[in-house]
Amino acid sequence: MSTKPRQTRNTDWVEDYNFLITPKPQKDELLSSWLTRVAFAHGMTLNNFFGYFVRHEGHALTRTDIDFQYNPYLLDALSKKSKIDIKTIQNLSLRSEEGYLFACNECLYPPAQIRKLVDRRTHFGLMYCPKCLEEDEHPYFRQEWRYLFSNACIKHGIYLKDRCGICFERIRLRKMPIDNKIIFCHKCKRDLRLTRPIKVLEEHSEGLEAISWFQNGLKNGYFVIDNTKVSSLVIFQAFTHLRYLINGQKNLKLDSFSMLNSYKGLCKKLQHYDSKKCGPVYKDFFLTAIVYHLFQNYPNNLQKFADENNLTYRDFIHGFIDIPFWYKSTIDGIIPMQNTVGRDISKSEVIGVINYLKHSGIKVTQKSVAEIVGCHFSINKTFIRIYKQIT
Ligand SMILES: [Zn+2]
Ligand SMILES: [Zn+2]
Repeated sequence: MSTKPRQTRNTDWVEDYNFLITPKPQKDELLSSWLTRVAFAHGMTLNNFFGYFVRHEGHALTRTDIDFQYNPYLLDALSKKSKIDIKTIQNLSLRSEEGYLFACNECLYPPAQIRKLVDRRTHFGLMYCPKCLEEDEHPYFRQEWRYLFSNACIKHGIYLKDRCGICFERIRLRKMPIDNKIIFCHKCKRDLRLTRPIKVLEEHSEGLEAISWFQNGLKNGYFVIDNTKVSSLVIFQAFTHLRYLINGQKNLKLDSFSMLNSYKGLCKKLQHYDSKKCGPVYKDFFLTAIVYHLFQNYPNNLQKFADENNLTYRDFIHGFIDIPFWYKSTIDGIIPMQNTVGRDISKSEVIGVINYLKHSGIKVTQKSVAEIVGCHFSINKTFIRIYKQIT
């Protein structure tokens, strides 16, 4: 008995009908945004439209993250049915940023660089800039609004919104009520363009600078750091890891970062989670600005961050899968290996250093001794034990 090979094309898909009207996709538009506009042009919700024109079990598809789904058959079918070339359709999918913004080995869910549709740690629902929607002749949702580094609109200098401004419901395109524009909250029917914008304060403009730096790097496919071109993928992978590392610092020290006090104040407030406020969006705005700051004045800011927060080589590397060479050599450069790889430190060696310091008139401290021994003064356990025994 032989089993038939699984076919991608099967009876689940609607073969016969082509789309009747196809609004023009914008080049930075999300696939789900464009499809919702196509559905509304047919006088249907996204669910019904999919069931009628694309796949018999339409809602099974619309319930998934269409923007991230990798399904060549779906994209091919959309191209044929809309008579829009396949390249244009592919570019609407977030998968088109693979290799630039993220790497993904047939992964089902978006990696950290892309917001999931729902994830309370970073945002509530699909994000948007009310002013961009207001200025659009045909309002649409941008791809960039799903990138983790994008928390504010550069053009309007305001924070992105992650919910309806009146009933605080998250935005879900598949639930949006039919209209000639995709701008209404499905729950209270409020026009999202009227959502009150929150301006980014003048003193936090480094956060906007950060977003535009990341935007440009992604557009170019590389960043220029210390006069060297570094692939955008490498920087975005490092971004994800550094953001995680910064987020984990209970008492972050980074004097060179001008927004530090505001960031700390915000973190304090966020301990009391308020589901009606966009706290996580503001926090990610700051985290993005800090990562940006670490890449500036390279490698000095990064070096200071490592030193002032007593970070180890392991902190920078741990959990980082497929570490890019650029990142590894950067970390090798800022944290010398002797600080990280355990080597035997003997009691006599430490006594010798203390005597040397006394003899030279230099103050004997745990730090000054460690510097000469060549280990980290507050991390190397053997050293700390010996030092405390002697002094
Ligand atoms: Zn805007
Ligand atoms: Zn609402």
